[in-house]
Amino acid sequence: MSSETIFSKIIRREIPATIVYEDEEVLGFKDIAPQAPVHVLFIPKNEIIPTLDDLQPGNAQLVGKLALAAAHYARQEGLAEDGYRIVMNCREHAGQTVFHIHMHLLAGAPLGHFGA
Ligand code: C5P
Repeated sequence: MSSETIFSKIIRREIPATIVYEDEEVLGFKDIAPQAPVHVLFIPKNEIIPTLDDLQPGNAQLVGKLALAAAHYARQEGLAEDGYRIVMNCREHAGQTVFHIHMHLLAGAPLGHFGA
């Protein structure tokens, strides 16, 4: 369960992306189809975990690092005071299209609510 996706090509810089955050384990880049004024994706660089359903207890720290990277970026960009949304989609009913776990950071305007 570790097939490459288009995000692997972004990590290797084989296709263009606007990279806004990077550390040893996490890459952050602007979503090509933004759903909010600020829409950045945070992904693990060294592991391909297809969905949230594939997470193992050993991945807990990695998921925490995605959240810390998103929060760091939001603070750095002055988004934290007004607030932002973090979204992770799992499989078909959530609309997941890239099977390499990623955390969406959406910000820059009131985002409203979405229903169940
Ligand atoms: O959670 P989901 O799988 O739907 O999100 C995948 C996201 O990856 C989409 O928002 C899509 O616009 C983004 N994407 C991207 N760059 C690509 C391919 C997909 O930002 N080259």
